[in-house]
Amino acid sequence: MRGLLDLILPVKCLFCDKPVSSKNIIPLPICAEHERELPRLNPPLCRLCALPLGARVVRRPNEASSPEPDIKKIPPEVPLCGDCRLSVVKFDFVLASYAYCDELRTIVHDWKFNSFKYWGSWLGRRMAHQLEGEFVPEKWDYLVPLPLYFRKLRQRGFNQAVQLAEQLSYHFELPLLKALRKSHATRAQSELKFSERLANLAGCFCILEEQKSKVVDSSILLVDDIYTTGATLKCAADELQKAGANRVAGLVLARSLPPGFD
Ligand SMILES: [Zn+2]
Ligand SMILES: [Zn+2]
Repeated sequence: MRGLLDLILPVKCLFCDKPVSSKNIIPLPICAEHERELPRLNPPLCRLCALPLGARVVRRPNEASSPEPDIKKIPPEVPLCGDCRLSVVKFDFVLASYAYCDELRTIVHDWKFNSFKYWGSWLGRRMAHQLEGEFVPEKWDYLVPLPLYFRKLRQRGFNQAVQLAEQLSYHFELPLLKALRKSHATRAQSELKFSERLANLAGCFCILEEQKSKVVDSSILLVDDIYTTGATLKCAADELQKAGANRVAGLVLARSLPPGFD
């Protein structure tokens, strides 16, 4: 049946027009070659924002001119970018599976804005595979996907972070906890200047009443699709920490890179 469909209605790769043959009922428009070429981030990476550090000098706290991170004392051997050295630490770490390249941008657009939801489990499985060995699942209690505002959810039909978290939950045998709710709509972070991003998000997440007891003293892995400035993840981490979470880390599908990094 699949073979017949391939003949009548061949699905083509988004990037090279090659017909895609697939065992899946709904084949995804990407050929094996382009799938292999999705770029990873080049280590060493900043532990708190997954920025590739390359040959950049990593400043140690005692060499920094601004105050040291004021929540946790970070040992000097942990690789951090200049910004993270100087900012308040919210996470134990942030891990990203891919660099947010043009190909991934096209896929994410098809996934989120054309509402082609089938990318979700495909990307989630790849994300899980890439994160294998990067953290110790047994040390964490829950995977918490970032929520969408209900109107956005209704419009899109699915929450992309939940789709990713479902695959991670399956792969790492960690429970998925929908602990956060988005209490009001926010403007797309990508439309805003860096300085406006935190204000845009202020107070936009809250903890669901019925999950509050689970959050207390727990170790939480936040899950989201794209890391740009990290403002969204930081706001969510803030809320979880205020509610008594012990540790929070971030797992993201892709990390967007500032100019000059790709
Ligand atoms: Zn291709
Ligand atoms: Zn960093």
